[in-house]
Amino acid sequence: MKTILKIESLYKQFGDVHVLNGIDCEIREGEIVSVIGPSGCGKSTFIRCLNGLERPTSGRVLVDGVDIFSPEADLPAIRSKVGMVFQEINIFGHLSVLENVMLGLLKIRKMPRKEANAEAVRLLRLVGLGEKLDAMPDALSGGQKQRVGIARCLAMQPEVILFDEATSSLDPRMKTEVLSVIRELAKQGHTMLVVTHELKFARDVSTRVLFMHEGRIVEEGSPEQVFDHPQKSLTRAFVDNLRSLVFQIDSQDYDLYQLNAEIEWFCQRNTLGRRYVSLELIVEEMLTKMMPFTGPIHICIHCKEMSQEVSIEMEQEQFSGQIVGREGTDEISLMILQGLCESIEEEQRGTTRVVRMEARSE
Ligand code: ADP
Ligand code: MG
Repeated sequence: MKTILKIESLYKQFGDVHVLNGIDCEIREGEIVSVIGPSGCGKSTFIRCLNGLERPTSGRVLVDGVDIFSPEADLPAIRSKVGMVFQEINIFGHLSVLENVMLGLLKIRKMPRKEANAEAVRLLRLVGLGEKLDAMPDALSGGQKQRVGIARCLAMQPEVILFDEATSSLDPRMKTEVLSVIRELAKQGHTMLVVTHELKFARDVSTRVLFMHEGRIVEEGSPEQVFDHPQKSLTRAFVDNLRSLVFQIDSQDYDLYQLNAEIEWFCQRNTLGRRYVSLELIVEEMLTKMMPFTGPIHICIHCKEMSQEVSIEMEQEQFSGQIVGREGTDEISLMILQGLCESIEEEQRGTTRVVRMEARSE
């Protein structure tokens, strides 16, 4: 397969901060490469270097064999070969959906108006927006705006499309619609480099996964290799951590909002969709049953990656109350919990009470 992007020994510093520390990699035609890694490890900087939005301190980026940072390189031409869809939605607010997509066709691909119109309509249908041609961006949902951004990017017939967490600012339902469009593009054979936290998506769609840490590619391989059999302990820790949420409660006045935000983020990164509402409820009901506070409560939520089964384990130190299973106490909480859980088990180890629950799937 033809190599579309070749990255050689890429380094980037911002002042004293070494953000990229020697990246070498190739993207070949038809590949769908996911980039995963902790926040701040340099994923955005890396892909911004690939279409010249960021200039590396040293190293080379070759697009079709042309070094994009050489003085002879034609950056606008390169940017139309290397399309990019960002996390922040950036379409023009004063132009209709159709005009947003036509703009590049007219100005960059120099198409006659009639053809540009037909092509923009085709692309908007492709991303499911055939009914929204004349809508103004303000009237669209976040997911729809993001899909206009994708259509606009496709209009340039890019050889490779870079997605930088294109779905992270969207709520779960919109995330799903945008991810479906990206899946469809993958099926059609588009070459893509996708920075994502969506593990299931990365597993289903990618041909290769790169794990980045502190500005380096620490491990790469098929999704099975990276997710199921990581060779490096850094990769293993990262992958396990994405599937789990650990939270500790140290007083009666714990921060419920922070806890719920953590649960929401956990559900997002595991693509659990609407199930976060029931997880929030399970945890909240369980905590209600554990009050008044006797000692630290440790919460661990884990999502099995293939089956998407979610288990919740809560440990209460210096236990002194009554929990699940007991008749006659807090009937309503218990009924709510039983409705939301596949199973609830409890066990006492010394003064520590352990409760394990399996959340019911949709
Ligand atoms: P990621 O996308 O993996 O979260 P980024 O590439 O956004 O990581 O950032 C990597 C590091 O580079 C961070 O520490 C960030 O603060 C720093 N950084 C990114 N862009 C700039 C910039 N324009 N100026 C200074 N520091 C930056
Ligand atoms: Mg980023």
